[in-house]
Amino acid sequence: MMLIDGKLISAKVKDEVKIKALNLAKQGVVPCLAVILVGEDKASQTYVASKEKACKACEIESLAYKLSSDTKEEKLLSIIDELNKDENVDGILVQLPLPKHIDTDKILEKIDPKKDVDGFHAINAGKLVSGLDGFVPCTPLGVMRLLKEYDIETSGKNAVIIGRSNIVGKPMANLLLNANATVTITHSKTKNLKEITKNADIIVAAIGKPHFLTADMVSEGAIVIDVGINRLDNGKLVGDVDFENLKDKCSYITPVPGGVGPMTIAMLLNNTIISATNRLKRQK
Ligand code: NAD
Repeated sequence: MMLIDGKLISAKVKDEVKIKALNLAKQGVVPCLAVILVGEDKASQTYVASKEKACKACEIESLAYKLSSDTKEEKLLSIIDELNKDENVDGILVQLPLPKHIDTDKILEKIDPKKDVDGFHAINAGKLVSGLDGFVPCTPLGVMRLLKEYDIETSGKNAVIIGRSNIVGKPMANLLLNANATVTITHSKTKNLKEITKNADIIVAAIGKPHFLTADMVSEGAIVIDVGINRLDNGKLVGDVDFENLKDKCSYITPVPGGVGPMTIAMLLNNTIISATNRLKRQK
């Protein structure tokens, strides 16, 4: 069994990002990411703080908008509008989930697809499905980078994704399909899940349930990628995979924490660099 070290690879990506950011700055383009947080959700506050910190460490300017939970939808739309027009802003990220009185789809669709570094806009989702260049959601993009760094072949492999969300499952499936895997997407209504996962060369678990994928569900030698982040009552952070009982069956496996998690922010920074590079090209 080989452990896939997301901490190590994310540090490598961040080193690359920093070099690219400094290079862009020399040419007059300081990469800039705007992060909008609405409300006081603790987990969201932590995510936003780590995004700001990562930007700083990688020479990317970060603009933080911290709005109260009763912020009107109109207000949020007008902030996004301003950021869309601001030539110095390369990326706009709205931290999810938003308070219930705000229409998330409407907000995400307001972001200029050219600055949609989270890759959640329907235009970017469509580009991914069509195999065109566009922004790709950071978590599945991070998974692809891990597979590449460990020379894991995807072409012709049976890849099974558990979960069909717009931010993980669906883009993950499209990325693996574009990388020539034979992809099966499974979800809460799937029957006989175990029969399907048993046939998988690569399994990506993105369910949000601790220890969901158990040893009896995987074949010897499978590659298991655990996207889940679950906080247990005792405070411990675990993934969706029963890591301890399953690890020895796998050829490769990602731990939680230290697997996919750190890759998400690294890929967000990289997407911001791509956007800033596009700005430089437009200016030339
Ligand atoms: P989600 O709740 O939107 O989607 C969960 C999916 O799991 C759904 O599509 C559902 O159909 C499927 N599912 C639920 N029960 C199932 C069952 N019994 N059998 C098969 N499928 C089932 O969640 P999400 O946003 O995709 O996130 C999934 C997990 O990944 C969560 O733990 C989340 O915290 C984590 N996550 C991690 C990162 C990261 O940076 N590592 C990023 C995003 C999400």
